[in-house]
Parts: sequence; C-alpha cells; structure tokens
Amino acid sequence: MAEGFVTERLSGWGRFPVERCNVYRPESRRQLAAILESGAQPSFVSYGLGRSYGDAALNGQGGVVCHTRLNRFLAFDAQSGVLECEAGVSLAEILLYFLPRGFFLPVTPGTKFVTIGGALAADVHGKNHHQDGTLGNFLLDFKLLTPTGEKLSCSPNSNPDIFWATLGGMGLTGIILSARIKLRPVESVYVLVDYQRAENLEDALGKMTESDVRYQYSVAWIDCLATGGHMGRAVLMRGNHARANELSASIRNRLAQPSLHRWTLPFDLPSLALNSLTVGAFNAFYYAVHRNAASQVVDLEKFFYPLDAVHHWNRLYGRRGFVQYQVALPLDGGLEGLKDVLTRLARSRRASFLAVLKRFGEPNPGLLSFPIEGYTLALDLPVASGVVPLLHELDRVVLNYGGRIYLAKDALMSSQTFAAMYPKLEQFRAIKSRLDPHGVLSSSMARRLSIVEK
Ligand SMILES: Cc1cc2nc3c(=O)[nH]c(=O)nc-3n(C[C@H](O)[C@H](O)[C@H](O)COP(=O)(O)OP(=O)(O)OC[C@H]3O[C@@H](n4cnc5c(N)ncnc54)[C@H](O)[C@@H]3O)c2cc1C
Repeated sequence: MAEGFVTERLSGWGRFPVERCNVYRPESRRQLAAILESGAQPSFVSYGLGRSYGDAALNGQGGVVCHTRLNRFLAFDAQSGVLECEAGVSLAEILLYFLPRGFFLPVTPGTKFVTIGGALAADVHGKNHHQDGTLGNFLLDFKLLTPTGEKLSCSPNSNPDIFWATLGGMGLTGIILSARIKLRPVESVYVLVDYQRAENLEDALGKMTESDVRYQYSVAWIDCLATGGHMGRAVLMRGNHARANELSASIRNRLAQPSLHRWTLPFDLPSLALNSLTVGAFNAFYYAVHRNAASQVVDLEKFFYPLDAVHHWNRLYGRRGFVQYQVALPLDGGLEGLKDVLTRLARSRRASFLAVLKRFGEPNPGLLSFPIEGYTLALDLPVASGVVPLLHELDRVVLNYGGRIYLAKDALMSSQTFAAMYPKLEQFRAIKSRLDPHGVLSSSMARRLSIVEK
C-alpha cells in the first residue's frame, strides 16, 4: 500500500552517506497529505530522483517521501511555452515530450535525471547562469503543501516570502506539488560550440570575462592536477542553440526526440582506479584532443548531459562513494580563492576526475539559493581517509574569500561554516518555524547543518 513504507538503505548520488530511511511512494496527492498528517515518523523529507549528492534528501530513521509517482503533465500553452506539471516530473520526461515540439528547458543542470521538485528545491543553475540566472527565474508559480496541511500558491507576487524561502530551501518549507515553468523555444536539438584552450586559470577566467557575453552557455573543463604556470589549464566549451538556417541540409531531423540509449557501468570500480596517475593521464589526453575549434555542431544531449550516457557512472568511484565539492566565489578575490583551492588540492595529491568551472551572474533573492556573482568550481573526490579534513580545510579557504558551498552537493560541511556562508539563514529559519511549528519536515542535512533542532 502506498501509504505504508519500506525501510531502505538510501543515499544520494555520491553514495555517501548511506542511511536507513522509511520510504513512502504515494500515488496521489490525497495519499501524500495523509502521510504527512499521519505523524507516523519523527519527520519527513521529499525525495525526487536522488541526484543531490549528499544527505539533502535523506532522513535517517525518519520518513522519506518519494515523488516519482506524482509525475503528471497538467497543462501546456504552446504560444507562451508555459508548462504546468507535478513536481515528480523529471527533466528527461519534459525533453522527451517537448523537445520534438521545439521547446527546451530554460535552465538545466548537468543531468536530466532530476525532478522539477528537486530542481526547484535546489534552485538549480546551468551553463547559462551568467546570462539567465537559475531555474527560479523561469518559474511563474508553484503549489506548496505546507507541513500543517495548507495548500498555498506561491509566486514572486503571492506569498513572496515563502516563494523565496522554498526556492533553494531543500524541501524544508513544504512539499512542492506542482509548478508552472516557461520553457525555451528552440529551432533544433543542436548547439554551435566553440572550443578554446586556456593555458591556466587566469587565462580561462580572462577569456570567460571578455567574451562570455557572446555565448548563452559557457563551461570550462579544468585540469586540476596541473601546477605552476599551467595551474587550472582548461578547455572552454561555449555555445548557442543552433538555428535551423545555421545547420547544413544534411541534418534532416532538427527536432528529434532525445536518445534513450544508455551504457551501464555494471559494477563498482576498485576505489583506487581513480588516482592521481590515472586522472593525470586522462587529463593530458583530454587537453591534447581538444584543440581550438569554432562553431562545432554538437548534439544537445552531448553538450548538456555527457554523463547521462552512462547509467550508474557513480560506480566509478568505488563502493565507498564520493563527494562532490562545489564552491561559489565572488568576482572580487575569486581568482585568488580558486588558485588557493586548486593549490591545496594538488598538494594533497588527490585527483578530481571531474573539475568544472562556470561563471555566475547576478543572484536572485532566494534565501538559501547558492549562486553569488562570480565563479563556481565543482570537484569530485572519492571518499577515502584524509578527505574530510581536506574538505574542511577548503571550507575555511572558501569562507575566507567570501564564498560558499552548494547544499545540493554537500555531505560534510559543519553548521558553523554553513551559518557563516549563508547570511539569510536566520530569515529562512523564521519562515520555516512559522510554516512548520511542529517540525514535520526535516532531513539529515537539516540536522547536520542545524537548520532545524531535531
Ligand atoms: C551528474 C549531475 C550533474 C549535476 N549538475 C548540476 C548543475 O549543473 N547545476 C545544479 O544546480 N545542480 C546540478 N546537480 C544537482 C541536482 O540538480 C540537484 O541536486 C537536484 O536537486 C536533484 O534533483 P532530484 O529530483 O534528484 O532531487 P533529490 O536529490 O531527490 O532531492 C534534492 C532536494 O530537493 C528536495 N525535494 C525533492 N522533491 C521535492 C518536492 N516535490 N518538494 C520539495 N522539495 C523537494 C529534497 O528534499 C532535497 O532537499 C547535478 C547532479 C548530478 C548527479
């Protein structure tokens, strides 16, 4: 029965930490409301597709409400591109139905296997933050089931304080039931991409600052093992949606459905498989093959979701899992901050297989929304002895430079560091306790970061 639960060992995408949670899979809003009302668990938290890396969607010994069965499209206006859907709809489902009709997501994270509810709760950003901001900028409104059972409609004009607390609020203010989002019209499923090498971090940031304005999408792969004058050498990948008349006549299917084909990594790799030698060899190869090239026609799936092609790619890091460490640093001092992080990482001889750099534009008023104007760097580190002290050391560096850590990726930050990085936390807590006086919604992350007491 959907109102009953199953106890499972659950984790986020990093497979660290793993916690025993009581998982509910409601199939209707009535069941969802009944679960919250039941008081059968010490607290509840929403779970989308579990693509946050750490413990944001976990609730050790408590209730976890999975949204993937509440995934109906509710309305679509082809004139305005406004889609209304339930929060359990995934970005992959939106692409499957709306890309062939000429609509893309206005903002997308680096995987399409996330739900609308999860994407809004993290206020996700994509490769176009410098131009377009977060997904929240394209959100007209959403319906929220509050912990006391009220249903509220929230937008920047209606219940604005709850709107800005929920966007980026990691599921702690209420359960997002449905949302209205404005999709982006596109003429093809291709992106025209310019590839450009940068000799080091300074060169990469200089190029981005100088010419990102020409590109809707901008991202850089970084060689995090390069040192000295090559520290932060990078390959910039920047592009714009290809218009129909920019494609050669040989490309007939300009608005094809996304491919459903995926490879599967069938087992965990030994945890030593990704070390500074193997990653160093990969980085040298990657840098060598990516020569400067302009206007390359790249399939949108490959440009936005390269990792989605491999099912369970998180097994690459071995059984103990991995942490993703994503920081945002302000424009002022950001370059020095990034250098400091990369220097300490290289000194630790730990290799991040993936290291991605982007620029952030203006932030929105979201109380716990991550982006600040400046730069963001994401690193993947396998869980191993010494990683926790290293990341705590990096936390201090990031804090010193006025930066912050992304909650959707975090598994380790301390509550003191979090409070220092997110100055609107008290405002958030005040709204949370008004909406949730009995502490119905909580998560392992919320307790670790002392956002809630229990
Ligand atoms: C390969 C990869 C690439 C990524 N790239 C990016 C990126 O480029 N940019 C970026 O911003 N993020 C990125 N992410 C992170 C990801 O977009 C977020 O963690 C997102 O929140 C995951 O959505 P989900 O549906 O899996 O939610 P979950 O991970 O299951 O949950 C995330 C949070 O959302 C809450 N939540 C879920 N559903 C609801 C609901 N209906 N109502 C209220 N709260 C809810 C949960 O309680 C939890 O706090 C990436 C993740 C992966 C694995």
